[in-house]
Amino acid sequence: MNTFDYIELEKRRQQNNIELIASENFVSENVLKAVGSCLTNKYAEGYPTERYSGSKGRYYGGCEVVNDLEEYCCLKWREVFSTDYHVNVQPHSGSSANLAAYMSVLSPGDTILSMDLNNGGHLTHGSSVNFSGRLYNMVFYGVTSEGYIDYEDVAKKAAENKPKLILAGASAYSRIIDFERFGKIAAENGAYFMVDMAHIAGLIAAGEHPSPFGIADIITTTTHKTLRGTRGGLIFCKPELAKKVDSAIFPGTQGGPLMHIIAGKAVTAEEACSNEFKEYIKQVVKNTKAMCDEFIKMGYDIVTGGTDNHLFLVDLSRTHPRLSGKDVQNELDKHGITLNKNCVPGEKRSPAQASGVRIGCAAMTTKGWKEEDAISCAKKINEIISAM
Ligand SMILES: *Cc1c(COP(=O)(O)O)cnc(C)c1O
Repeated sequence: MNTFDYIELEKRRQQNNIELIASENFVSENVLKAVGSCLTNKYAEGYPTERYSGSKGRYYGGCEVVNDLEEYCCLKWREVFSTDYHVNVQPHSGSSANLAAYMSVLSPGDTILSMDLNNGGHLTHGSSVNFSGRLYNMVFYGVTSEGYIDYEDVAKKAAENKPKLILAGASAYSRIIDFERFGKIAAENGAYFMVDMAHIAGLIAAGEHPSPFGIADIITTTTHKTLRGTRGGLIFCKPELAKKVDSAIFPGTQGGPLMHIIAGKAVTAEEACSNEFKEYIKQVVKNTKAMCDEFIKMGYDIVTGGTDNHLFLVDLSRTHPRLSGKDVQNELDKHGITLNKNCVPGEKRSPAQASGVRIGCAAMTTKGWKEEDAISCAKKINEIISAM
């Protein structure tokens, strides 16, 4: 076995399995071509010179082509979200984007108010084993007993703790996030307002979720989830924070940018501007709703009772008290169905076991799923669970 044998095996796995992990997707041949291109050879520490007054430009010669490419990539991403926000396309991942975003406006020890990790927040939103939880004073808001973001709790915690930054965004939340309400709470408490739209960025780009642009001070995202692009991150910010954000990426937290990945991000942006992408996202939302409704019809509990986006959470704790999320994940794996366990509101198990599963339809919609395919998959999952 050599490297390419492993790649061939993984390709087959991806072709044969039903992929329901809400954070995954399948990129186009053009994205693969760009990230597999000769741009991986180029060192380009720094930024294209015009980026901001005070930029020292690049540290190496031979950057004339990659300078234009990076400027083009930035231009396309502003077009995707119809925004004049500043954008930095260099973050290696969503986590790197968040690290730099915090560093741009916070000092270690400052207070961040973010979503409780057991209720859908991300590792980088303050987990005690992550840099975020170790460097900053984290305060968390929760969800209501139905699983909706508890905006009264956000307002209360903000008033009590006077955070320097309030963070909205999640990895496992199936409902519209009210950015205006968050923004108002941040303004009332003199806090920066940051949105991590990693999961829902594709929906925002296609107009299927309200946009945080014009409201948030800083917006981070991944490019590989519903945006269906190369693995990577982006940071958008209001123009007055541009210099802080850029220097938090380089030299603050990263060295040379991955120019082949920036090429992949440019292709991703080109694709995300297309009508075909808007139609794709519309179908994602339709498929997710159809699948979720089928589970409800079969008697399952869904956190919040439904979904507005590309994912939903099945809560097994009342209907299948014997089964953990992990048991179900493992059993479905044996049948070629890939998803992940997830905590539910009022979770009684540890996060490693969990009492629910998260289901997303973005990847299978790329493979051509329509509502009837989503519904028959829900039925198949029910058969497998019922036999456990
Ligand atoms: C996936 C995700 C990230 C991190 O992305 P990586 O590229 O895996 O580092 C950050 N925030 C949220 C909300 C996410 O869902």
